[in-house]
Formats: sequence, structure tokens, C-alpha cells
Amino acid sequence: MDCIFCRIVSGEIPATIVARNEFAVAFRDLNPQAPTHVLVIPTRHFESATEVPEDERVAVLGQLLRLAVAVAEQLGVALGGYRTVINTGKQGGQTVDHLHVHLLGGRQMHWPPG
Ligand code: 5GP
Ligand code: ZN
Repeated sequence: MDCIFCRIVSGEIPATIVARNEFAVAFRDLNPQAPTHVLVIPTRHFESATEVPEDERVAVLGQLLRLAVAVAEQLGVALGGYRTVINTGKQGGQTVDHLHVHLLGGRQMHWPPG
């Protein structure tokens, strides 16, 4: 599988992993856009949220957000506030085709996003 995030899951490519469980892995973004910028990905490869079969979405997306919230607490951004983002497809700005949740914190966020 020629997917960089699958390679991070398997340990083939190094990453700064901050948390992991049976369903998901959380690691630091290589090009952080905030003092805390972590990516939370399913251990199974799904190209995007759209590609997750409908009957698996509650489980897959629930596990991703569950770990993101835990990491926000673990890294100390939960109290001040943080943002979770899922970029999907071309217009959504997705550049890596393995479903991931961005967890951004440690600075004031703005709206609307770019
Ligand atoms: P997207 O644009 O698809 O929503 O987000 C992809 C994210 O993956 C970007 O923020 C980018 O910096 C990050 N990224 C791309 N390649 C790597 C990598 O090899 N290692 C890590 N840790 N992050 C990566
Ligand atoms: Zn993958």
C-alpha cells in the first residue's frame, strides 16, 4: 500500500506518536499550523470519510473523535479550547488520501477558515 499514513501506522515511516489504540493513531503533523497540531487517523485505510461504509461510520468516526478529545486533554489544550477539522476531497483541501482528523490548539482560531 503506497500510503504515507499507512506507513506511519506500521512504523515504516517515523512519526512523533502521541497516542494510539486498537482503532486509531495520533501523531504530530510534520508542518504544524498551530503550537499543537496532531493528526488522528484510523489504523485501517479509508481514503476519506466518504469512503467509510455507511454502517461503519459511527464506529470509525466516533473512535477518531474519541481519541482526538483524549489527546486534547493529554496535551493540555482542552481547557483553553481547540479545533478539530476533517478536510475531505479536492475542494475540502485534502492532500493525503488516508482519512484524518486535524487537532489544532494552543492559539486563537479564526472563522471562517480559509
Ligand atoms: P490534509 O491537507 O490532507 O488535510 O492534511 C495532511 C496533513 O498531513 C498536512 O497537515 C501535512 O503537513 C501532514 N503530513 C503530510 N505528510 C506527512 C508525514 O509524512 N508525516 C507527518 N507527521 N505529517 C505529514
Ligand atoms: Zn493509508
